[in-house]
Amino acid sequence: MNKVQRLINPLHLEGLHHEADMMRNVDVHRVLYQTCGHQASVLAKSRSCQQHKDESDRNQRLVIFDKDGTLVCIHAMWAPWIRGIAARLENATDLDLANKIFNLVSFDNNTGKIKPGLLGEGTMSQLRDTITQLLSEEGVPREKAERIVQACWQVREMANYGDVRAVGDVGHLFGVLKSNGYLIAVNTSDSRGVTEQTLDHLDLRRYVDIIVCGDDEDVLPKPHPSRPTAQKICSELGVHPSDVIMIGDSTSDMMLGCNAGFRYSIGVLTGIAPREVLERDATYVVDDIHQALHLILQDSS
Ligand SMILES: [Mg+2]
Repeated sequence: MNKVQRLINPLHLEGLHHEADMMRNVDVHRVLYQTCGHQASVLAKSRSCQQHKDESDRNQRLVIFDKDGTLVCIHAMWAPWIRGIAARLENATDLDLANKIFNLVSFDNNTGKIKPGLLGEGTMSQLRDTITQLLSEEGVPREKAERIVQACWQVREMANYGDVRAVGDVGHLFGVLKSNGYLIAVNTSDSRGVTEQTLDHLDLRRYVDIIVCGDDEDVLPKPHPSRPTAQKICSELGVHPSDVIMIGDSTSDMMLGCNAGFRYSIGVLTGIAPREVLERDATYVVDDIHQALHLILQDSS
């Protein structure tokens, strides 16, 4: 296993999740995660929500949605994208790279499905660094590798993505939440440019109160299940963490909810992780966001 594989292999992510699992019931422990050049201090779930309750008495409730695999079909959107990147890199280098790239980012090219791992949970920066490192290990000089990856990336070209398909009637769901007094946030590892284009394309942006993306400068991106992301969202919207519900398709999403002291986390089965994986960290696991809406409305009635 080479250095890149050790850094982003799904088993490595699994190990990080397991490490935090073990810490979760211990009071105020700090776990330092380091992947792909990023560092994040992660506080395991520890404090009672009541310890923070004096920060806000507004009782405003908020639902935070992950994007890919939760609001939009991750496979339809990202399978063509990673295949396009791999093809352009092979053309640019004359190297046999595609299967190595698919393995590194946890993409099954035979089924077109994205599995738990870098493509489904990492940021654009982490993806780009990992693939650049692969080119270096294949013998491409580092500076040339960076230029080639940059030229092949074209992250802001929506035409490079596949079908941007909502998971059900997201607009209706957002409208129901709004009419019941909920604020809505989107917290994604994807870049801000693509995220805003996607929400505009699906006519969802008018419902969303805050968008936090993987390339925002002032937050630590998922897959780090870090407090700063949650703190940014809660502080900007004036919502206490115990009044927040997290919905996502990955272990990273569920751990964010746990570590931030959210009211609860709902895992959905429309993305990358199977039920048995999500159940380790989720409060509930349901088929999709529409079943999640039923849970939320029952909770608020
Ligand atoms: Mg996701």
